[in-house]
Amino acid sequence: MKKLLSIILSLVMIASITACSSGQESKNEATSSVTQPPTQASNLPVEKLEWVDFTEYSLEEDVPVTNIILMIGDGMGKEIIKGSEIVKGDKLVMSGMQHNTTVTTYSHSVTNGTDTYTDSAASATAISTGHKTINKYLGLDPDGNKLETICEYAKSLDMKTGLVARQVMSHATPAGMVAHNTSRDNYMQILREMINSGVDVMLGGGSQYIKGYPKNEKAVKAQNYNYITTPEELASYDKADEKLLGLFAYDNMGSASMSPMLNTMTAKALDLLENDKGFFLMVEGSNIDTYEHKSNMASTLEQMQGFDQAVDYALQWAEKHPGTLVIVTADHETGGVKIPDNAKPDDVNDSCFTSDGKHTNSDVALMASGAQSAGLCKEELIDNTDIAKYMRKVLKDARK
Ligand SMILES: [Zn+2]
Repeated sequence: MKKLLSIILSLVMIASITACSSGQESKNEATSSVTQPPTQASNLPVEKLEWVDFTEYSLEEDVPVTNIILMIGDGMGKEIIKGSEIVKGDKLVMSGMQHNTTVTTYSHSVTNGTDTYTDSAASATAISTGHKTINKYLGLDPDGNKLETICEYAKSLDMKTGLVARQVMSHATPAGMVAHNTSRDNYMQILREMINSGVDVMLGGGSQYIKGYPKNEKAVKAQNYNYITTPEELASYDKADEKLLGLFAYDNMGSASMSPMLNTMTAKALDLLENDKGFFLMVEGSNIDTYEHKSNMASTLEQMQGFDQAVDYALQWAEKHPGTLVIVTADHETGGVKIPDNAKPDDVNDSCFTSDGKHTNSDVALMASGAQSAGLCKEELIDNTDIAKYMRKVLKDARK
């Protein structure tokens, strides 16, 4: 009943937004007819997995950075973006962002010849700390020394921090924003470190690492987290001054349409994190990689839909909140996706995967919009460690 009510409210809101934008030209004559959404809960998007309409958002650029929204499509190489656009028949929203560049993703393991490509742990560490490391390492340099993660840095500036993912919360990418461990596979231990570090909002999968693990259950209580496990609890949650841990699946959240969808979790995280001192939020489209590993194009494309919907939501939000830098990128390419020249939608299929489900060293795209977004893209080719350095630079500059 509650859900039905919130759907109805959302529909009413969409209708009023549509009415607003179609009446753009007459806006100056009649400004008083805009209806405000009645409650906070109705701010959540209506959940429907689809290609979201291409929209170019014009975010203010020449302002100091208060908030950073870092969006990582795990395994989202340039070719899967191209394939998605062929199937969609239009550009993705991320392709309309204000600036773009290309990023190298190799890890320390590639440089020293012990592996042929990066894994998500080394890549997350690079994006988070600015240092290359060994595959499987999180927040540690190749010698095992602790590195300062982006969430630790943001906390040192009194900013709030948030992580949203479709995978298990302590999976490599979100973990790399916070934790330090020599093995990404230590999910239970890593989740405990994430909880103890006090990240303000964590939404994703992996409830198996709480229930039945007394040490982790204790940490949740000791750190005063509100712990929720259903989309209904998320929809009605409004304690912005308290910490939230939401784990909505025993394991991976799997299908992109499983509620709460990525854009819903992103919307709620933004609601809860907004504050005067700013925030760092990482949003991961985790399962693009998962289905590329299986060479499953149909499911990969669904994950791309879900991720681009979340990008669309974040850009819409950032447009209304000047001082927000939105970065969209990938940690590496997966699947060796090759889209044939002049491909038609039907040609974008399982046969486009060429790496037997493995990662590759292909460079990935980075798109940026909003506060100080041009500076990150002024070179045609950057390294993933440059992302970490740039995020620190703009946050430091904003405090001069
Ligand atoms: Zn990855």
